[in-house]
Amino acid sequence: MSTEIEKSVAFHIIQEQMGSAIAAPKCHKCGCLQQTVEALSATAEGQNELAETLNRARQVFVPKEYDCLGCPVCYPAIAANAFAEAYPEAEAKLDLCPTEEPDLRSGWPPLAGDYYVLRYSAPVAICALNSASLAQQIARSGMPGVAIVGTMHTENLGIERVIRNTTANPNIRFLIVCGEDTQQAIGHLPGQSLISLVASGMDERARIAGARGKRPILKNISADAVQSFRKQITVHNVVGQHDVERIGSSAQDLAAHTPGPFEGAASAAPVAITRAVPPVGLTLDPAGYFVVFPEQRRKTLVLEHYTNQGVLDAIFEADSSAALSSTVIQKGLLSRLDHAAYLGGELARAERALETGELYVQDRAPGTLMTNIAADSRGCCGSECR
Ligand code: SF4
Repeated sequence: MSTEIEKSVAFHIIQEQMGSAIAAPKCHKCGCLQQTVEALSATAEGQNELAETLNRARQVFVPKEYDCLGCPVCYPAIAANAFAEAYPEAEAKLDLCPTEEPDLRSGWPPLAGDYYVLRYSAPVAICALNSASLAQQIARSGMPGVAIVGTMHTENLGIERVIRNTTANPNIRFLIVCGEDTQQAIGHLPGQSLISLVASGMDERARIAGARGKRPILKNISADAVQSFRKQITVHNVVGQHDVERIGSSAQDLAAHTPGPFEGAASAAPVAITRAVPPVGLTLDPAGYFVVFPEQRRKTLVLEHYTNQGVLDAIFEADSSAALSSTVIQKGLLSRLDHAAYLGGELARAERALETGELYVQDRAPGTLMTNIAADSRGCCGSECR
């Protein structure tokens, strides 16, 4: 039981911190402020001694843009903690965290967030905690074996998103936790909380066992989903590590030891894999056809364009296949996607031949001609062109 002096100190802290939040526009659209004000308003003190302060805070609300910005110092959270310490018996009833069920979308990852997707079928996910630039560097490095890399700022909604987005992909079997844990004034410790969750799970009140942060409560995720996450994912704890090469080396080691896709995932259905089949029919592009030629003497890629009557009407030259592709698209000389895909493949092969000096022979387009324009009427060999 707190003394009257302790309660009075708590009220002073709450008024002071709410004043700071009222003065900070970023807080007006943040779930942390809005939820804390509503939670405190539901208490007896919130309807008496704190009513005026909370009303002033409510007046600055604008439509919520984020649940929690993960600020190093969060004023409403400090206020809420002061209240919880002065009224420990009321703490369990305080609904302090945003509780909205996030919108799930089909496909993977099911939840939008602050992450980069590299490859669905890779076995390693990387959580760079509060280090956004580290996540970006890892993504840019194109690390082999890595499916997704992102940040995580909070030990409640942040962890829930990690669970949903990793368990929705059965290929993910490892989670590297690196970067800077968010050591905030209010005690957000998402990294420590995530590692505790994997080690010890959560209790019947959805609080992560062993988490030292102030709000490690997972309200939007079932105990079954947490259990499934703990079975599917092995955490590699390197919190504090910022070295991209070392993280990459760990990712490769882990990927080499993947046990394969997890069976019995409790969350979203995996993305379907379709076995691709070769094209059956071949339809001429009304815009004409191309002959590709790597000219070794001048180290130049040459692309001749013909009408479907076999009349040469344009010649393009470039050092790269990308330049040729974008130029002919810009000129409107590709009107079919299958033709564009075929030309892209041929240009890439021709470019490689130009680099290596290997012989290049243009492949005919796949499929059987489905049009009434006879190949020989185009004045071309039919084996090279479309
Ligand atoms: S996290 Fe806290 S300090 Fe940051 S914007 Fe939200 S309410 Fe304000």
